[in-house]
Amino acid sequence: MAYYVGVDLGATNVRAAVADENAEILGVSKRGTPRGPTGIAVTEAVLEVTRAAFDEAGVDPEQAVAAGIGSIGPLDLAEGVVENPANLPDTIDRIPLTGPLSKLLDTDRIYLHNDTAAGVIGERFYSDRNPDDMVYVTISSGIGAGVCVDGHVLSGWDGNAGEVGHMTVDPNGEMRCGCGRDGHWEAYCSGNNIPKYAEYIYEEDTVETELPIEDPDFDAIDVFDHAGEDEFADYVIDQVNHWNTMGVANIVQSYAPLVIFIGGAVATNNPELILEPIKERIDDMVFINVPDIQLTTLGDEVVLKGAVASALTGGTGDRSRL
Ligand SMILES: [Zn+2]
Repeated sequence: MAYYVGVDLGATNVRAAVADENAEILGVSKRGTPRGPTGIAVTEAVLEVTRAAFDEAGVDPEQAVAAGIGSIGPLDLAEGVVENPANLPDTIDRIPLTGPLSKLLDTDRIYLHNDTAAGVIGERFYSDRNPDDMVYVTISSGIGAGVCVDGHVLSGWDGNAGEVGHMTVDPNGEMRCGCGRDGHWEAYCSGNNIPKYAEYIYEEDTVETELPIEDPDFDAIDVFDHAGEDEFADYVIDQVNHWNTMGVANIVQSYAPLVIFIGGAVATNNPELILEPIKERIDDMVFINVPDIQLTTLGDEVVLKGAVASALTGGTGDRSRL
């Protein structure tokens, strides 16, 4: 029997899953992502969950044939590391991944992807038609995309293709993005930035609202909870949908996908308020064929399952390579 492992390294959790050659999951393990002292602690956590997943599967790690990793970025693919991750403390500057995992598993077949590329590999592998042209978009604490064109999962020379959340959508650049630039899609529509955007609109034109704008704990969930009951909340959501549709339309024009799967907590928790408006409005912004737009079928396991699928298919999600 051949064994395959997938690793999902996120800013909050690190998870591993071991599967057999039929993609059946035999063991999983999860722990919190260490906040330091250095990147080596994160590497050790990756090795720890990987060993634990093999333990649960009752298999020795050296029996692994290949591994896939879906990771927070930015990546340096040539070195097989994460460099200066945006969502972890500054003391974590470099997280070695490919080398240590290769040593533990005694295989050179380690496929490293950014998390959204792992996402599209998972959606491709598990969707009925195993399409060659598709996109996975996550709308979560950040926004990003994994893209498969003509059967090739795009990675870019350093592994950082698909940072669509940092596409400029607002030429006036009213909102500043977490990356320090102005007018990026993510600055308006990510879970972290929706409340900041609501505050900005409110300051421009103060209206009556039930939203706890002044509360330091005011968050995106408050905005969605007031949908349909508060005119200002509806206006904010309407504006968010405007930028989301523009972002998705730009993706469609760039890559001509047959299908787009949308995931991430903002979308999966509010499909009626986030997904449906994009589907309704996109016709007005797209010049070419409008793709099928669906909610992710893999929930919050999309990156982990994508990492497993990558290990099984040589980094592609192409089921014919099983
Ligand atoms: Zn940005």
